[in-house]
Amino acid sequence: MYEFLTVQMPKKKKIALVAHDNKKHDLIEWAKYNKGNLGNHEIYATGTTGKFIEQELGLKVSRLQSGPLGGDLQIGAKISEHLIDVLIFFWDPLEPQPHDPDVKALLRIAVVWNIPIACNRASADFIFSSPLMKEEYPRLVLDYNNYLNRTI
Ligand code: PGA
Repeated sequence: MYEFLTVQMPKKKKIALVAHDNKKHDLIEWAKYNKGNLGNHEIYATGTTGKFIEQELGLKVSRLQSGPLGGDLQIGAKISEHLIDVLIFFWDPLEPQPHDPDVKALLRIAVVWNIPIACNRASADFIFSSPLMKEEYPRLVLDYNNYLNRTI
């Protein structure tokens, strides 16, 4: 039987934004539409995505390294430390990326820690229109203690 623990997500959430080059316009359009809502939260982003969000929306963004240079992995590390609550990641389904393993790692770790993930505009709209965006939320995560205390 699986056991779960909870991680408390605050009202003001830490949101990570990432978009591949062919999806950056999409993300910027989406972010403009949701600027009011985004402004209530703390924004993190990979380097280039963050630069455009700052320029186009005038919102403060904690910018990490550019994705292919380690930014995706930095966001993944923050997720594992419970320092990111929501991932908006518009990845490009039509073009291979040089950092495909990092993309996979980021998506994987977001699932490991059960954070909400949106990979396209419709999903991002559904997440952002949820009342839970304005509330605290006890996010369930698998209790990994059995795994951590395993014997070899
Ligand atoms: P970028 O990275 O925002 O620095 O372009 C995005 C990515 O490819 O992960």
